[in-house]
Amino acid sequence: MPDSSNITSDMIPASIEPQVKNQLRDQFGRTISYLRLSVTDRCDLRCTYCMAEQMTFLPKKEVLSLEELLTVSQAFITRGVRRIRLTGGEPLVRKNILWLIEKLGAEIASGGLDEVTLTTNGTQLPHMAKDIYAAGVRRINVSLDTLDAELFSEITRRNKLETVLEGIMAAKAAGLKVKLNTVAMRHKNEDELPALLTWAIENDLDITFIETMPLGDISEARENTYLPLTAVLPKLEAKHKIIPSTARTGGPARYFTVDDSASKLGLITPLTNNFCDGCNRVRVTCTGRIYMCLGQDDHIDLRAALRSGEPSTNLSGCLDKAMGLKPRGHDFAMSNGKMVGTVSRHMSQTGG
Ligand code: SAM
Ligand code: SF4
Repeated sequence: MPDSSNITSDMIPASIEPQVKNQLRDQFGRTISYLRLSVTDRCDLRCTYCMAEQMTFLPKKEVLSLEELLTVSQAFITRGVRRIRLTGGEPLVRKNILWLIEKLGAEIASGGLDEVTLTTNGTQLPHMAKDIYAAGVRRINVSLDTLDAELFSEITRRNKLETVLEGIMAAKAAGLKVKLNTVAMRHKNEDELPALLTWAIENDLDITFIETMPLGDISEARENTYLPLTAVLPKLEAKHKIIPSTARTGGPARYFTVDDSASKLGLITPLTNNFCDGCNRVRVTCTGRIYMCLGQDDHIDLRAALRSGEPSTNLSGCLDKAMGLKPRGHDFAMSNGKMVGTVSRHMSQTGG
């Protein structure tokens, strides 16, 4: 029997989310209530699964201003989006990002949004965590693939493990609920995953393991490090009592309770267990393109509407068009040892 006892106020089943009259709904009848908004394609790390060593970033003039990102967010709020996750690239390296977080936080206070969250690599949290909490954010995802300093440097191409750990503790101290995001990688952090789960429990953190997705060219073949989570779960179960839970946070993860701890384990399995049927989200890039699916190329450019005389009406029209184009799902899969369904955009371009 799934255990729902761990559901807290930050884990609201999608079915009871409030809706507006002109609620965004896609061509398959799925309610779209969740926006992932990329605020920059830049980053201070170079994770091997996310970026090539040499990346060409967008010229600044192509990136939407913070005011424009707010206007886009408001267009989604008007159409029933209840949660916004800021992402990137690294959202916290965007200059003056706190201004946008505060504006979106005010939408929570006025009932326009249920939640503003962010996904971060954690390097800026030591000095930003308190302000993020003060702006109205209550939970964040922090990416952490290893606790080993050498492996961290190898995976991220930067020597910043200590800063990230300091950032996680600063976030906790500020009152933020932290969930770790860990990309599971064969021959890299594979043997460390049970220890990472234990560390998360000891530190009262949630943790989600993620299968690597074929997004953009990186320095090596993705197949070399692809690790199906079906192979990881038995190793976790050997050390912990893991029970499926009905808890949801509005994202794609399936959750489990672990031992009798307060920590939740999440699994994001785009390749071994497709979750697209329940998709409730779209993504907007920092250049103003709306992608209806991380794993497909269809998109609509919002810039002309944004810069028109009547941005709210025109943006709303673009969102209707987007709903008609949202595909059923991605096509990521392993076929005869090869990863298929690849897209050329890096995760840092679309927004994680
Ligand atoms: N820089 C922030 C961070 O690292 O948390 C936010 C952006 S990052 C693109 C968002 C998430 O995507 C991270 O948790 C990262 O591990 C994950 N990610 C990046 N590339 C991926 C890939 N090819 N497959 C699976 N997850 C990926
Ligand atoms: Fe930067 Fe996040 Fe991509 Fe790592 S995963 S390179 S931290 S954007």
